[in-house]
Amino acid sequence: MADREGTLRGRVVAVTGGGRGIGRAVVLAAAAQGANVAIAYHDSEAGAKDVAHQARGYGVDAEVFACDVTDREHVFGFIQGAEKCYGRVDGLVNNAGIMPDSPFLEMTVEEWDRVIATDLTSAFHACQAVIPGMLERGRGSIVNIASRLGLTGWPGVAHYASAKAGVVALAKSISREFGQRGVRANCVAPGVTNTDMGRTVMEGEVGRRRMAELPLGRFGEPEEVADCVVFLLSDASSLLIGQTLNPNSGGLMP
Ligand code: NDP
Repeated sequence: MADREGTLRGRVVAVTGGGRGIGRAVVLAAAAQGANVAIAYHDSEAGAKDVAHQARGYGVDAEVFACDVTDREHVFGFIQGAEKCYGRVDGLVNNAGIMPDSPFLEMTVEEWDRVIATDLTSAFHACQAVIPGMLERGRGSIVNIASRLGLTGWPGVAHYASAKAGVVALAKSISREFGQRGVRANCVAPGVTNTDMGRTVMEGEVGRRRMAELPLGRFGEPEEVADCVVFLLSDASSLLIGQTLNPNSGGLMP
């Protein structure tokens, strides 16, 4: 049912990787709060169309866009397409990401470059595409999905952890450069979350051990991460800029 009084009522929110996992949950949480949504997908076309259909159930508009976030032209096409549909983009969520396992000494330059392109440079492209419009209107909120591993580092994923540390610094830098002109950028750094990516480390003895170490005693659900993202997109977080929220079951208390 439409929540016409939602915290994002009438806003336009663009989400990369919106066809599944955390991105999907963000799209639906934003739509539930009244945002019109632009959903980018790469492989998950059916998932993106399905989430758009579900989003429309909240009484908002939802459009899907094919977009490989490693391709600058695709990313600009996505943002410009959303602006053309809706007249503007008020909120951007840089969510798309990959986390392949690569022991450091075996990591190839190609593997390193692919992860940096997907998890970090993609956000650079999207921010450059979206910020001019936000500056014209004097308002905008950007949320980068980081990771607990970007704050701690982790064996076997040096590329991923480095990229995730990068999106935190990117959000702080954008905030310092554009905050006085109304653009805020923040991050959400989830711990292990129940998605295709998260499930790779949730199962078996390793997963049980990790879970037991968490003060909350359980892993996160994508909807719980999405609630943090929607908060940062909304005016309820108007004083938060260059910050990182950590929905991680207490696994790291920075
Ligand atoms: P999933 O593996 O479930 O989903 C990954 C998403 O990224 C998909 O929507 C996928 O789109 C998209 N994607 C990957 N490569 C590209 C590309 N080249 N171009 C466009 N889209 C792409 O992961 P999660 O939902 O769990 O992850 C979402 C974000 O959260 C990521 O940035 C991840 O690093 C971060 N995160 C996740 C954690 C977890 O435990 N799950 C923990 C901490 C952070 P498609 O399917 O359309 O190809």
